[in-house]
Amino acid sequence: MRQYELVERVKAYDPAADEVLLNRAYVFAMKAHGSQKRASGDPYFSHPVEVAGILTGLKLDTASIATALLHDTVEDTGTSLDDIEKLFGIEIRRLVDGVTKLSKLELQSARTAQAENFRKLLLAMSVDIRVLLVKLADRLHNMRTLHFCGEEKRRRIARETIDIYAPLAERIGMQGMKDELEDLAFMHLWPDARASVIARLERLRADDGDLVLRICQALRTALYKEGVDAEVNGREKAPISIWRKMQRKNVSFEQLSDIMAFRVVVDTVGSCYAALGAVHGEYVMKPGRFKDFISTPKPNGYRSLHTTIIGPEGRAVEVQIRTREMQEVAELGVAAHWAYKQGNSSTDGTQYRWIRELLDILEHASGPEEFLEHTKLEMFQDQVFCFSPKGDLYALPQGATPIDFAYAVHSDIGDSCTGAKVDGRIVQLRTKLDNGNQVEILTGKSGGPRPSWERYVVTARARARVRRFLRLQKRNEYLVNGRDVLHRVAQREGVTWSEKQMEAVLPSLPYATVDDVVAAIGEGKLSARQVMDAMHPELRHAAEERPNEETSVRPSATDGKLPLRGLPEGVASTLARCCNPVPGEPIVGVVRTGREVSIHRADCPNVGGRTENGSPPLELDWEETARQLTASGRVRVLTMDQPGSLGAMTTLIGNQGGNITMIQSGKRSGGLLEVMFEVEVEDIDHLRRLIGTLQAMPVVSQASRARG
Ligand code: MN
Repeated sequence: MRQYELVERVKAYDPAADEVLLNRAYVFAMKAHGSQKRASGDPYFSHPVEVAGILTGLKLDTASIATALLHDTVEDTGTSLDDIEKLFGIEIRRLVDGVTKLSKLELQSARTAQAENFRKLLLAMSVDIRVLLVKLADRLHNMRTLHFCGEEKRRRIARETIDIYAPLAERIGMQGMKDELEDLAFMHLWPDARASVIARLERLRADDGDLVLRICQALRTALYKEGVDAEVNGREKAPISIWRKMQRKNVSFEQLSDIMAFRVVVDTVGSCYAALGAVHGEYVMKPGRFKDFISTPKPNGYRSLHTTIIGPEGRAVEVQIRTREMQEVAELGVAAHWAYKQGNSSTDGTQYRWIRELLDILEHASGPEEFLEHTKLEMFQDQVFCFSPKGDLYALPQGATPIDFAYAVHSDIGDSCTGAKVDGRIVQLRTKLDNGNQVEILTGKSGGPRPSWERYVVTARARARVRRFLRLQKRNEYLVNGRDVLHRVAQREGVTWSEKQMEAVLPSLPYATVDDVVAAIGEGKLSARQVMDAMHPELRHAAEERPNEETSVRPSATDGKLPLRGLPEGVASTLARCCNPVPGEPIVGVVRTGREVSIHRADCPNVGGRTENGSPPLELDWEETARQLTASGRVRVLTMDQPGSLGAMTTLIGNQGGNITMIQSGKRSGGLLEVMFEVEVEDIDHLRRLIGTLQAMPVVSQASRARG
């Protein structure tokens, strides 16, 4: 097609079109593609021109036509998007960018289950519906010229067309484009099947003569008798739909009655039902085959009446009845619908209002038209679609991270995830994924959920798995700690303990199973002494001679009165869990809502200058008797990660009179192990001595009071 022909075509339906822009795009693309050739040997430039030509058939706006001319310049020539913007403006830049991005996507996985996700991905990435229209026209022209390509490429492109692009065309209501795409793909994929369907159709035609014409004539007569003014057309159905039906219903060609379709086109909706009455009055209808898509349109906006009758000459035929407008919507989709809505006004410059209105609705969510509810691309904008390295496609909610992706692939992958690559680059696990990303999950023995992951995930599946994993991990830690604590307490008291022994006294303990008891001790919810006392009643006796220890209940809200100076009268007080203050060190009291004061270290970062109700923190001091409390301090140690180092530390703490109530450890880089101890101590001096001794150990690289 020549330059002037293309411009003429556009001007024919849009006299106000920007001729200068079209000419510039034409010349620019021609120069950019230069001497490039297509597989057919034609100059490459013939391709974008033909694509533009297809779009003139849909009466698209100047920007779309220019985009069609330019659509391969960024991908295949030295042109940059900035060049496009400079010469043609930001709107065309965005459209060309969109088409280029779609072209880069490739469905790598052959699994058909992936096709629907891939279609959604294309829709999600076509933020502007014109991008999709240009892409479909591009694909249509490539299909028309596919016979110049090699066998393998032909099959791949044809398969993709049938799985992805034909259904997309149908989804936005473009029946004509869908039919042609499908037939071309059929020809390349299953040429033998197509040839035999066509051969059968021809033989049928030879046997029956002008059957289509005769049935048309009979229908016209029936309608005329009832005074319905209508246009009647008949055609054979597309070879691929006949072939599909043969496969689906497992019927042979001879049994297949409805290989023909007849169309009755009238002026008004009322006439549709009058025509239906006339047809049903003359012929017997096949039960169960009548469908009213006028009162209930298809999601893509298709409206029509469908019925199957035992028609003239005893043949079962399908009859579709619709208005002229419905006919055009069925053939051209969204474009025709909007052209009709504004009354075909091609001279007042509102020709393309449909595009603008559609874009507007796409941008601002809700629109009144039912079919737009289904056609609008926004419905996919709350999802992201990402590829696995194998090319499988996963749909995730907007805001999903590699962790969500890992759990979507398999829960084991999530549970052993150590990191992620997106499009080949290592990223942080909290990175939000984008459409079309290829995500590779790195896994390893040391992988798996961290508490922070809960904040990064958006899928319910990933969140549930992360929580479960962390819960189990914690429980295991508690069990290990609990056994450790029980061993040491038993050793100190010179008694024995075993899980069997504990089972015998379970009824007197506040937990149902031995494991629960051990875990509760490991978590610090239950004291090991209480368990020992239950197992060895004789210890209780001995303990009475050590009043200090017997009264050393952990200071908590149960007792509600800490030995402190400066507390207001009648107010309960508790030690804050965030910083675990220890007798002897500077403290403040924070008045919480209700009548309770929580006691923090003076340097606790949670206190700040003010408290909840706005009053400054209370100045407090420990009473002398506070030493009788067993307060816990937290100690953080970095140690060599080598056998025996943990044992050496716990022994040393025990020897120094510290009672370990909790141990947590985790690997750090550089062969170091980070260990957190919670130790019951007499006072701050006791704690400082412990820390000093730990620091002196050869295996310890650093020991300090844990902040908060
Ligand atoms: Mn192209």
